[in-house]
Amino acid sequence: MRALTIAQANRVDVREMPVPDPAPSEVLIRVAACGICGTDVHILRGEYLGDYPIVPGHEFAGQVVAVGRGVSRIGSGDRVAVEPNIACDNCNPCLNNRQNFCQNWQAIGVTRQGAMAEYVTAPEKVVVEIGDLSYAQGAFIEPLSCVIHGIERAEIALGDRVAILGAGPIGLLLLQVALTRGPVEVTVLERQPARGALAEAYGARWVPTLTALPEDAYDVVIDATGALPVMARTPALARKGGSVLLFGVPPRGAKLSLDAFTIFEKGLTVRSSFTSRRNTFQALALIRSGAVRVDDLVSHRLPLERFQEGVALIEEGQEDVVKVLMLPSGTELPLTETRT
Ligand SMILES: [Zn+2]
Ligand SMILES: [Zn+2]
Repeated sequence: MRALTIAQANRVDVREMPVPDPAPSEVLIRVAACGICGTDVHILRGEYLGDYPIVPGHEFAGQVVAVGRGVSRIGSGDRVAVEPNIACDNCNPCLNNRQNFCQNWQAIGVTRQGAMAEYVTAPEKVVVEIGDLSYAQGAFIEPLSCVIHGIERAEIALGDRVAILGAGPIGLLLLQVALTRGPVEVTVLERQPARGALAEAYGARWVPTLTALPEDAYDVVIDATGALPVMARTPALARKGGSVLLFGVPPRGAKLSLDAFTIFEKGLTVRSSFTSRRNTFQALALIRSGAVRVDDLVSHRLPLERFQEGVALIEEGQEDVVKVLMLPSGTELPLTETRT
């Protein structure tokens, strides 16, 4: 099979590799669609802890083509998405329902072979059937799960005013999930007009500059940029007694300067959110119901050979770039397409 391999920081090529065999309790998936995520960019740039060489790719969907011994819930031919974080289910955090902090954490595309390849294996326990969703929609199950976990932590209440800073793929998912919580208004900060227009289409008020956001105005302020100057601004935007959710991933080792007295004087609650915690079925349900629409988020579909081009599109943040999907099997519809 062909697999995109990051041999070391900034060294990437497409190689021939043997198709992996599914171990007991694992399934083998032919990958139809795999999103490029900030984590993949970090791995490529050498800014992530992990061993090289690695085949990246953790936001994906495809069709099961073989199953290992002991697999019972999933079968060959199933159309599936995957929760790439693999918890051991046998350490103290796992047993305390904090699987996102598993002490023996593994992740497809980070610590084991990922989905930027024609085939990938995954434990059956992290694989879910997507039914009649498209594979491209299935590739959003993982980022949407993280967003659902974040919105649950943000505790948006009926009638709240919410500000979301940044309207990349994550900001636009945060917006749509926030709207399911019954706010009276969601304002989205985004400097790219095309993304701003998408935010408006999903029901937000769009502003292009940070200075256009009023101070002391929002019950909940969510940062989806991970950019330190934007994050530093969040306490000023929140109302007294409000809260801040720092969702965007900042650079490793970065120091954030926050106005400590403002946080004190306003009695603010400041939270972060780390990956997801069994939110896969919620993600499936929200896409299936139409409450979260992801089709418009896909701006580019590229073959494996054009991975670096996809990364460059994301890093340059060009006007029309939202989500870049890789098609490792050359098409979004491999094998038998059962969608009706
Ligand atoms: Zn991701
Ligand atoms: Zn564990």
